[in-house]
Amino acid sequence: MKAVVFDGQNLMIKNVEDPKINDSQVLIRVKSVGICGTDLAILNKSLATPTPLILGHEFSGDVIEVGSEVDKKWLNKRVTSEINTNIDFDCYYCKQSNYTQCLSRKALGIDIDGALAEFIAVESYLLHEIPDSISYDDATFIEPLAAAYQIFEVMPLDKNDKVMAIFGLGKLGLLITQVALLKGLQLITVDDSQKKIDLAKHFGAHYQLNRSEGVHIPSEIKNLTNGLGADIVLDATGNPDALKDIIDSCRTRGKVHIKSTHGVNAKINLTDMVVRELTLYTSRCGPFDKAIEGLESGKIKVDKLISKKFELEDIEEAVAYYNRSHDHIKSIIHL
Ligand SMILES: [Zn+2]
Repeated sequence: MKAVVFDGQNLMIKNVEDPKINDSQVLIRVKSVGICGTDLAILNKSLATPTPLILGHEFSGDVIEVGSEVDKKWLNKRVTSEINTNIDFDCYYCKQSNYTQCLSRKALGIDIDGALAEFIAVESYLLHEIPDSISYDDATFIEPLAAAYQIFEVMPLDKNDKVMAIFGLGKLGLLITQVALLKGLQLITVDDSQKKIDLAKHFGAHYQLNRSEGVHIPSEIKNLTNGLGADIVLDATGNPDALKDIIDSCRTRGKVHIKSTHGVNAKINLTDMVVRELTLYTSRCGPFDKAIEGLESGKIKVDKLISKKFELEDIEEAVAYYNRSHDHIKSIIHL
């Protein structure tokens, strides 16, 4: 089969052996794969992975073969898959049903071969059926949308949480914008792309700030919040240099939530965080069921988040487009 392989230096399309399923796996004919900031972090080596590696972890496709232990109902189903595989169901975290933190877990497309290929073998316990109303392209948003829902799984809101500032309006930031609005929060959205800022406004965000206009963002956010700062400040920038403004924009005793995986060390002023008693939250993968419900009900909209669609053969162009386009949100690869 054809696959997109990163050999540690270069990205290339290679002919590799078709994956063979074991008794507990299914074989998926991949239809659509989203390109993610994590893929870029692997390619620019800020995130170290084993190589050679088939990239891709936001994907959808059809089940075309099932292992002997797998329920036959999965055959021919349209599916997406969670990415944390190799789960032992026996460790400290698994016993608390925290499977995404399993001590033996490996992530598809990051630790082991992923979905930027004609076929992928996955464990059947990772599968989620895609409702008919969700296209293969839109289904590639289920994984990042689940990550957006996870923010509020790990960070319960209290009665004083009214204003949230979201820094970074890429794919994740614009999904978080929509989920946060469903939670009833007042939103201040921050980016340096007017196109992305306009999209956040389109979704219903209350205030927009454009970093490229040279304004001091923490001061602007304090102006909008009676001089206090936002109750919750969320980082979806992927840029560790933004963290100072992010922390400075949070009110005393507020919540700072880091969603970006910078892949590099970041400098933050811990003294300021201690003096003002800020709480630091982080979160990663989340509930696929909630993400599917959000898309199926129409409460979450993703059609405007697809910047461009490419064929597998054009993967290099897709990566170059991601890197050079200021307004890029998400590219989809068709197989
Ligand atoms: Zn485990």
